[in-house]
Amino acid sequence: MAKPPPHKHGLHDHVACVDRALSAAETLCASRELKLTPVRRRVLEIVWRAHEPLGAYDILAELAKERDKVAPPTVYRALEFLMAAGLVHRIDSLNAFLGCDAPGHAHVAQFLVCRACHRVAEIDDPALNRVLAEKSRSMGFHIEPTSLEIKGLCADCAAAGSAVARSDQADHQAG
Ligand SMILES: [Zn+2]
Ligand SMILES: [Zn+2]
Ligand SMILES: [Zn+2]
Repeated sequence: MAKPPPHKHGLHDHVACVDRALSAAETLCASRELKLTPVRRRVLEIVWRAHEPLGAYDILAELAKERDKVAPPTVYRALEFLMAAGLVHRIDSLNAFLGCDAPGHAHVAQFLVCRACHRVAEIDDPALNRVLAEKSRSMGFHIEPTSLEIKGLCADCAAAGSAVARSDQADHQAG
């Protein structure tokens, strides 16, 4: 299978986007009297820098470059804090973590997970949650707060896929 294209940060200024996420986190933590310690802040920064889901061991490796000794529990505790504060989401199917675009309000998110490049886009649509809650209630099923992960192909991978399909077809016709 073709290697997925390297991650492009689209058309936005990613440095500004990391700065914005960090200052939003500082404001949010200050207003809720949560302690954004240097290590928690740094973990959040690493997660945001990647701008794609990052595994705990990738985060650990990044931190280890700048600190002498980093124990895995340090990273897990920082991630737990960030998740509880709503600053980071865990993508269960990838066993990875992603910075939240809208950390100011509590929400259960839906994620579009690209099965080829593992990029994730967050949909934060309360209407979707309402529909799910109503349907399950009518079946007597009580949903617990859980995020929804929807698999598929992102725009880039879908485009790359159809390009491959087209060249396959061309080969076929030529041969
Ligand atoms: Zn960005
Ligand atoms: Zn979110
Ligand atoms: Zn993709």
